[in-house]
Amino acid sequence: MSDEKDLPPKMRAPARAAPPKPKPCPQDPVEQEFWKRCQDGSLHFQQCGECATFRHLPRYMCARCGSPEFSWQRSSGKGTLFTWTVTHQALHPAFADDIPFIAAVVELEEGVRMATRLIDCDPDGLELDLPVTLDFEPVGTDFRLPVFRPDTDRLDKEEAPDGS
Ligand SMILES: [Zn+2]
Repeated sequence: MSDEKDLPPKMRAPARAAPPKPKPCPQDPVEQEFWKRCQDGSLHFQQCGECATFRHLPRYMCARCGSPEFSWQRSSGKGTLFTWTVTHQALHPAFADDIPFIAAVVELEEGVRMATRLIDCDPDGLELDLPVTLDFEPVGTDFRLPVFRPDTDRLDKEEAPDGS
């Protein structure tokens, strides 16, 4: 939610026509496979068939050993907050109702980092290495976008007093 006065003039009602949010439309087959797998409500990363290193963004060759062999492996969906920014201005009118929102880079247990959004999180509660867990946000009626939220289970454990 945002105040109309926070928006650039062109985005204030009635200029704002609430266009649909843009979706990824990759041309590359490996990238298409990444997004297709997200539509089942799970997140998969490529894992090298030679050295077992995970990789993201989707690509054809392992950055560690150069092997073209890989398989898709389901991610645990668990990670930590690597970096973030709180966005207060919608640079696309479709996001006007979302500001302020948290654009983040999350580091997954598999070792890959992913640009994403953090949802259901008070900006005042943001901190490095905040435990986060995978969720999916609908975009339109036919697309699911992987996002992350604070992992309350792991937060509770961290906040438990020592020795408990
Ligand atoms: Zn490799």
